[in-house]
Amino acid sequence: MIVVLLAAAAIAGALGDAVDSIVILAIVLLNAMMGFAQEFRAERAIAALRRMAAPGATVIRQTQIQRIPSDELVPGDLVVLEAGGAVPADLRITEAIQLHTDESALTGESEAVEKTSDPIAGTRVPLGDRHNLAFKGTTITSGRGTGVVIATGMQTELGRIASLLGKEGAPRTPLQRRLAAFGRSLALAVLAICGVLFVVGLLRGEPPLRMLLTSISLAVAAIPEALPAVVSVALALGARTMVRHRALVRRLPAVETLGSVTYICSDKTGTLTENRMRAEEIRCAAGEILPSDDASLQKEPWRTLLLALAISNDARAEAENTLGDPTEVALLEAARARGLDKPALEELWPRIGELPFDAARARMTTLHAGTEGVLCLTKGAPESVLPRCTSALAADGPGPIDHAALEKDAWEMAARGLRVLAMAMRSREAPPDHRDVEEIESELVFVGLVGLLDPPRARAREAVGLCRTAGITPVMNTGDHPATARAIAHRLDLASEGATVLSGPEVEALSDHELRRVVDEVPVYARVAPEQKIRIVAALQDRGEFVAMTGDGVNDAPALQRADIGVAMGVTGTDVAKEASDMVLLDDDFATIVEAIREGRRIFDNIRKFVKYTMTSNSGEIWTIFLAPLVGLPIPLLPIHILWINLVTDGLPGLALTAEGEEEGIMERPPRAPDESLFAHGLWQHVLWVGLLMGAVCLMTQAWALHQGRDSWQTMVFTVLTLSQLGHAWAGRVERSSVFRARRPMNRVLAAALGFTFAMQMATVYAPVLNPIFHTVPLTAAELGLCLALSSVVFFGVELEKWAIRRGWLYARRAAAV
Ligand code: ADP
Ligand code: MG
Repeated sequence: MIVVLLAAAAIAGALGDAVDSIVILAIVLLNAMMGFAQEFRAERAIAALRRMAAPGATVIRQTQIQRIPSDELVPGDLVVLEAGGAVPADLRITEAIQLHTDESALTGESEAVEKTSDPIAGTRVPLGDRHNLAFKGTTITSGRGTGVVIATGMQTELGRIASLLGKEGAPRTPLQRRLAAFGRSLALAVLAICGVLFVVGLLRGEPPLRMLLTSISLAVAAIPEALPAVVSVALALGARTMVRHRALVRRLPAVETLGSVTYICSDKTGTLTENRMRAEEIRCAAGEILPSDDASLQKEPWRTLLLALAISNDARAEAENTLGDPTEVALLEAARARGLDKPALEELWPRIGELPFDAARARMTTLHAGTEGVLCLTKGAPESVLPRCTSALAADGPGPIDHAALEKDAWEMAARGLRVLAMAMRSREAPPDHRDVEEIESELVFVGLVGLLDPPRARAREAVGLCRTAGITPVMNTGDHPATARAIAHRLDLASEGATVLSGPEVEALSDHELRRVVDEVPVYARVAPEQKIRIVAALQDRGEFVAMTGDGVNDAPALQRADIGVAMGVTGTDVAKEASDMVLLDDDFATIVEAIREGRRIFDNIRKFVKYTMTSNSGEIWTIFLAPLVGLPIPLLPIHILWINLVTDGLPGLALTAEGEEEGIMERPPRAPDESLFAHGLWQHVLWVGLLMGAVCLMTQAWALHQGRDSWQTMVFTVLTLSQLGHAWAGRVERSSVFRARRPMNRVLAAALGFTFAMQMATVYAPVLNPIFHTVPLTAAELGLCLALSSVVFFGVELEKWAIRRGWLYARRAAAV
């Protein structure tokens, strides 16, 4: 369209209308520059987000462990690899403990590959067999190790492939795709209208060249070719505001769809709770509470219990604080508070083996060499550890065990919201066969129970309340015991005291069909495994819900991918989970999800306001020009007026609308259906009738001024149309309530845009240098007053429409999808 316009301007210039064609060229240029500036801003915002989302690397430089951005790696860097992490460059493995990587991105092989530091025999070994190299773009599925960087960036194997592929443009969001498709059909309609206009104008005896330029200008002005672009600008800038609320969007469409979320399935530990645990209660087999005097602590069973807390534990004791997994930190701190010194104890009881913690087993075991043999210490969830105990430790050594009583103790602690761990031990004469996991964790001696308190997050309860009013159902997922989960859920107001809690094994036992039937009545899932999270998401989606799901571990990635909005933990999450997610919570806080949804709703509202405003303005321009010859009036506006209105009055206030604050009660209305059309709730009716109203007001102005024989008739129409659109922007900035009662002030950008546009309009009318360019004549005070009064008709018309909507008289039904 722009090319056509340029060609037309050139023809006009060649035929003698030089000033006109120069001005048209200038306006087109300005338009292009504004578009470029907007997109540039959006690109920069997206690039900044992408940098934030890029995974980092843990390196050892000068014996210091440090976290650096991956693009600062250089060959020779020593990189630390951990389960769940992304491999940040091509590495030669220098140390590997059960190290496995997923190379499917590179080789298509979906099975995890074991990596070792052993040399490879032979040359020209295929990529998949180079077991002592780890490649960028792959991820660590389990184990740990270190490696030396041998290639970075485009020199890596991944880089070689990437350079073959070339660059792929950013995919469009669903809204953008729909708008683009809609824009194409609209363009055809507009072109048809402009064709008719051209013919009618010629029949009325307008000069053909001017008529051609008028039609083309109108087409350029009325075809909303910039809609998808503005949407991406609005989404990108929206994503930037979300980062300020600690939500990092990784995929732009998420900004748009957040407002549709109906379910948030959230992890408990760390998201709804603080993940800062404290040992609240420590008990032995006899049910006694840990005594406070040092003398008793030297005796059994307390001596072994405290020893187990300190050394069967991967947390690190530093001078000031304790570092590691919060569960383990809490246990170690309990031991330290009673005077135990972990480094000294580790000298006495060096660790000679371990069966690491894994959520599916819900327990771990460490093996320690002592002076008289080997001490095995096991800790984990009570129902995982207790069945493996055959005796219980008392003051005088192992004695009989009362399983029922211990289970009851554990249950009582859990019902108070405590995360309960059972501690057990076994003495051996010689180290066991490290491969026989079952044997190592058998015939244990029960030592004690520890109840950890993980307080709910400060903002969580309020956020749960906000979900309720906003039509969003919060659901808790946890690896903890059902009783613990229920108690915490109740404290957060997420579930009633006797609410149904479904456990992972119970979910497992249900068929997909049965799960779908009950899934809407379960606020809490306990002892869930990642596989069950996928089924829960799928069951909810089958019911038509739009689900946000949180996750942090490697195994959570499929559920995050399956969810409509996958949310990864920024602090505790693995790279794998983050890569699979749509959004990363920089503070791991549940309230941040709700905050992001709120922001998503605001952004969508504003995109809608923008579309409504732009399309209505276009519609007003079309009606004004198209209807004039039909009612026997000359074409009211010159091409330059049309282009000017398109650039200034449509452009600036329209963009500024996307910066508006949130609508009142934004979290008191139900979620928007994900397939709901942008044109629902009366948008297209509004575009039609307000456009017609603008056209009617303009034509009345024209007819009256012509009737009076005023030279200024064209200037008056030009002014009335511009000011009508400003009034429309002003009224339209608030969707439902009257602007006179709106609690939030107009955003500063919009105020500036309206002021600037008004001033520019006055300049085209009153600045002597601009009069010949815009073919305007200065208006008298009375004429200007009349223009102001006439253009306020649109403003009050829109206010009247809102009033009728509030009373439920208009647009109560949902419009058909576009
Ligand atoms: P969550 O979803 O609450 O983080 P996890 O899957 O991490 O739950 O843990 C599940 C259960 O495993 C816990 O309730 C606890 O009993 C046990 N557990 C957690 N961490 C450890 C650990 N470091 N050592 C032994 N047992 C643990
Ligand atoms: Mg955990």
